[in-house]
Amino acid sequence: MNRIDTQTLHPNAQGIAAAVAVLGRGGLVGFPTETVYGLGGDARNGRAVAQIFAAKGRPSFNPLIVHVPDLEAARRFAQFDDTALQLAAAFWPAALTLVLPLVTGHGLSPLVTAGLETVAIRVPAHPLAQQILRAFDGPVAAPSANLSGRISPTKAAHVLADLSGIIDAVVDGGGCPVGLESTIIGGEPPALLRPGGIAVEQIEAIIGPLAKRANQITAPGQLASHYAPDASVRLNANQAHPGEVLLGFGPMQSDLNLSVSGDLIEAAAHLFDHLHRLNALGQPIAVAPIPDKGLGRAINDRLRRAAAPR
Ligand code: AMP
Ligand code: MG
Repeated sequence: MNRIDTQTLHPNAQGIAAAVAVLGRGGLVGFPTETVYGLGGDARNGRAVAQIFAAKGRPSFNPLIVHVPDLEAARRFAQFDDTALQLAAAFWPAALTLVLPLVTGHGLSPLVTAGLETVAIRVPAHPLAQQILRAFDGPVAAPSANLSGRISPTKAAHVLADLSGIIDAVVDGGGCPVGLESTIIGGEPPALLRPGGIAVEQIEAIIGPLAKRANQITAPGQLASHYAPDASVRLNANQAHPGEVLLGFGPMQSDLNLSVSGDLIEAAAHLFDHLHRLNALGQPIAVAPIPDKGLGRAINDRLRRAAAPR
């Protein structure tokens, strides 16, 4: 990746406007939330979401949390049942993320949900996060603003230490008050998917005991088979065998192509959508070789899961 000049933005109207402009043009901006600094990108923009994975150097596409300013905005993307409404009313804005079914016509990039039918959504309380989300008026995907495998950032300097030269800007809002990731609740019945800034006891005081184990659809790490298309998947294919459909990469004859120009960011942005579309054809899927570097590693990780025997 080319090094870029990462701007440090002040926590004032001008800095917020600049952060919103970065989001609007599909760029990446680090911003403070009450939990940790988030690495924000427009959750509807597949390229922006792919850039988040590229910037962090994540070796796999785990789904990202979508940030919105309030419950009303959240309901444009997620279906809230009574329990979810109770939790939102009791806690939001807060360090609490809810994993809920997507609404139809949500408009989010499938990369943000890793192709799942659910979305993790949060309303952060930090005043700067609130101002950015309100001014942007769109969903912001934001994992922690650190390199994959490194410690989560609770100061702008931590963000810059990892991501200076890689992201467009960071809004310097000082230290993060909670300093722990958000608590994640999801599944039917609701279960704890990740402990975090809101204590389980507080949540159980509102909705009663949480389920002991998350059901398969919502538990991260149990997702391998969920990613698998119905038909068989054959990797490193330079052409389709009779009866197969071919998912291409780079200049080649194919049914769908992840990126004709061989751009891994574009390929990542297309991955889940193309897999869904080929799967709908109901034929075995052959996939062209993808270089195992940069985002190619995360793409190959997903493709290997899709191709794994089951
Ligand atoms: P991060 O954004 O890095 O703080 O991590 C997001 C966490 O939320 C990860 O542990 C994900 O596995 C989890 N997550 C996000 N979306 C979903 C989803 N749709 N279903 C289950 N877990 C999710
Ligand atoms: Mg993280």
